[in-house]
Amino acid sequence: MIDPSRLKAVVFDLDDTLCGYWDASKKALRQTFAELDLPGQTPESMVRHWAEAFREFAPTLKQTQWYEVYLKEGQPTRTEQMRRTLAKAGCDDPDQARKVGDRYGELRDCYLELFPDARTVLDRLAQRWPLGLMTNGPADIQRQEIATCGLDGMFELVLIEGEQGEGKPNVSVFKKAETHFGAEPDELLMVGNSYGHDIEPALRYGWRAIWIRRPSDLPPSADLKANPQPEERPAGSPDPDAEIRELSELLKILDCEFA
Ligand SMILES: [Mg+2]
Repeated sequence: MIDPSRLKAVVFDLDDTLCGYWDASKKALRQTFAELDLPGQTPESMVRHWAEAFREFAPTLKQTQWYEVYLKEGQPTRTEQMRRTLAKAGCDDPDQARKVGDRYGELRDCYLELFPDARTVLDRLAQRWPLGLMTNGPADIQRQEIATCGLDGMFELVLIEGEQGEGKPNVSVFKKAETHFGAEPDELLMVGNSYGHDIEPALRYGWRAIWIRRPSDLPPSADLKANPQPEERPAGSPDPDAEIRELSELLKILDCEFA
């Protein structure tokens, strides 16, 4: 059980915790590929190619020269991801990849939205605690997402992987938050959707952690017939302080229902 009176700050993850990143991404991909209308391909077959390319490219990113580029700016790796996608559909054309990638980025930003209860929950919690945001991704894309979601000024501390040079689950990011809030680890609460990036590290460093589990927070699947499986935590890994489905459940857990 979390004792809210012991907390000094509440720190949130952004993508698929406060806003629907993968929902926006999937909608944007389908529309981008429908507009592209590549011969012999459907939007569904193109999303499948994209998903395959993503599974190959994304896990290697941190180990390659792409990572430094990615931290600063989202466009180059987005273009490369799209180049690999188009190549799988028989069209290896870097100029086209850039245009199609930019269209996807534009549409994804259009479709990005806060979850319906996010604003109320943040406003309520902000009456009682300073709030922090800890988000992985390129500096420019993450700043754009914060603006698109109307979250500028909502957080006292914003730690973006692209700006810090490293992201969750590295201990340094969590230590920066402890220093900023002048708090012991167990006086801080992390709320996030990723067990591996948000919850496990927070618990390992002595924070409190609430895991928000959403059915929507999955990248497109290469096999459209398979039911995508939500993230499970490895056997023997520590329990979060709570698991929730909706952000509004935080208000009860943190005694803020009638604030
Ligand atoms: Mg997330």
